[in-house]
Amino acid sequence: MTTALTVQHDVCLKAHNTLGFAVNAEHFVAVADESELEQAIALADENDWTVFLLGGGSNVVLTQNLTGLVIQITDTSAQYESMPNGNTLISVGAGKPWHELVLETLDHDLTGLENLSLIPGSTGAAPVQNIGAYGVELESRLHSVRAYHRPSATWQTLNPSDCAFGYRDSIFKRNPGHYFITRVMFELNDHIAPVTHYGGLEKALLEAVSTSPTNAQMTPVQQAKLISQTVIGIRQSKLPDPAVLGNAGSFFKNPVVSSDHASRLRVRYPSLVSYPQPDGREKLAAGWLIDESGLRGTVAGPVGVHKDQALVLVHFGEGSGQDLMALAQRVITLIQANFDVTLEIEPIVL
Ligand SMILES: Cc1cc2nc3c(=O)[nH]c(=O)nc-3n(C[C@H](O)[C@H](O)[C@H](O)COP(=O)(O)OP(=O)(O)OC[C@H]3O[C@@H](n4cnc5c(N)ncnc54)[C@H](O)[C@@H]3O)c2cc1C
Repeated sequence: MTTALTVQHDVCLKAHNTLGFAVNAEHFVAVADESELEQAIALADENDWTVFLLGGGSNVVLTQNLTGLVIQITDTSAQYESMPNGNTLISVGAGKPWHELVLETLDHDLTGLENLSLIPGSTGAAPVQNIGAYGVELESRLHSVRAYHRPSATWQTLNPSDCAFGYRDSIFKRNPGHYFITRVMFELNDHIAPVTHYGGLEKALLEAVSTSPTNAQMTPVQQAKLISQTVIGIRQSKLPDPAVLGNAGSFFKNPVVSSDHASRLRVRYPSLVSYPQPDGREKLAAGWLIDESGLRGTVAGPVGVHKDQALVLVHFGEGSGQDLMALAQRVITLIQANFDVTLEIEPIVL
C-alpha cells in the first residue's frame, strides 16, 4: 500500500540529539514501516538528496546543518515467538527505545539484556556500535538483523558473524549509509548465565543481597532483574542525564596498546588502569588518561569535560558541535603528548 510521506523542511534537530546542538535538517521524514522507508529512499534518489538515518541521536555530534533527507524510523513493535529449542525469538522494530526493550524482556521473564539497562537510544542503532556495558556486548545476545542494503537495493538478514562486530564497531558503522536496520532479533530464555564480574557491579550486587546473587538462592530471572536495577542505580549515580546536561555518553574509545607500551607507561604511572586483552595487548581506560592529564572538570565556554566523569564531554547550552570538537581535539593532543596514545572519538561526527 502506498502512503503519502509527510516531509518537513528546515527542521531543528535540537530535541533529536542528546548533546542538544541546534542544527537543522534540510528535509526530515518519519517512517512507520519498511514500505515507507523504501518510499523515503526513492524520494531522496529522485531529488538527489543525501540520506541520513537518525535514531535517538545519543551517539552523534552534529557540527553543522544536515543537507539532504534525515529519516527517522518510528516502528516500536516487538513480537515474541517460542522457538522449538525452548528459547524465545523477539523481533523488535528499529524505533523502539532500547531501555524500554530491556525492561519489557525482563517483564516477560527473559534474561540476557539486563547489563545493558539504561543505555539511551533506539534498538535499531544498537547493532551499529555493538553497544556494550558491564561485561556484556549486544553481539552475544543477538539473533539477527534485518536491513535494507542501499547499494544493492535489497533486503538482507544478517546473522551476528555477517555483522563483523568489534569493540563499538560493526559492518554498519564501517559502511555509513549502506544499511538501514528496520528490525533487530534476539534469542533469549529464562536462564542465561548472569554476568556480574564487571567494574563496580559485583560490589553493588553484594551490597544489595549481602552475598553473590548466584549464591542467594535467586532464580536466574530474579538475578537478571536485580542486575538491571543495580546497573540503573550505578548509571544514574555516575553518568549525567542527557535530559539535564547534554552529552553523548563516553566520548572516546578505550585505546588498546601493546603490552610493552603499557609496561613503559606503568613505570611512569604506577596506578595506570589497564585491562589485558586476549591477543596480549592491553586496553587502557581513556577516562583515567584524561583525568590524569588534569582535564576533568575543564570548562571551555559552552562545553566541557564532565566534573566527575572525565570520559564524558558535556554541552552546557548555546554551544555548537564545533565548540565540542575543538575541546575533543585539545584532549586528544594532550593525551598524545602525555602518553603517546591516540584517542579515537566514539560517536559519529557529522
Ligand atoms: C548518557 C549516555 C550513556 C551511554 N552509554 C552507553 C553505553 O554504556 N554503552 C554503549 O555502547 N553506548 C552508550 N551510549 C551511546 C549510545 O547510547 C548508543 O550508541 C546508542 O546505541 C545510540 O542509539 P541512537 O538511536 O541514539 O543512535 P543515533 O545517535 O541516532 O545514531 C548513531 C549512528 O547509528 C546510525 N543509525 C541509527 N539508527 C539506525 C538504523 N536503524 N539503521 C542503521 N543505522 C542507524 C546513525 O546513522 C548513526 O550513524 C551512551 C550515550 C549516552 C548519551
